[in-house]
Amino acid sequence: MIIKYTNFSDGIHSFHLSESVKNLGLEELFFGNADVECKMDKSPHQIVLYCDLTVHSKMICDRCAKDLETKLTNHFQISYLFSSDLHETDEYNVKYLSPEDDKINIRNDVYEYAELALPMKRLCRDDCKGLCPHCGKNLNEEKCNCKIEITHDVWEPLKQLKGKFNN
Ligand SMILES: [Zn+2]
Ligand SMILES: [Zn+2]
Repeated sequence: MIIKYTNFSDGIHSFHLSESVKNLGLEELFFGNADVECKMDKSPHQIVLYCDLTVHSKMICDRCAKDLETKLTNHFQISYLFSSDLHETDEYNVKYLSPEDDKINIRNDVYEYAELALPMKRLCRDDCKGLCPHCGKNLNEEKCNCKIEITHDVWEPLKQLKGKFNN
């Protein structure tokens, strides 16, 4: 994920970067390659990089534990300012390049934005019914007869308690 910007003239350039998720350290939740469509706007004082990231995730459904594979996308923009005195910046996605630099590595940014693209809720489908906590059957695929029993189990102690107070 290295861009040797000294090879580019001032102006706008588009190019494609691709690297295996394994090389990026993302193999745990992703598979295949991370692809980045880059648009680089280079001028004498700065480089602005616009990136469209595509990754393929492999996760497990939070409810039914089924494997789920999804294509995730994310967009990010980074500004690189040419500066001879390198000061730290708190500004979001602004970085500095010294005159000795000749390349940008967006590896860490790709890593970060791939992680950010992961959904909070990981469901094989929005209405996933999950597994029966009693018999473990996948309720998306088949029904089970546990429901009545479970309702009974959950409320029985309460009912008994209530009975005690009423006496
Ligand atoms: Zn599910
Ligand atoms: Zn069941």
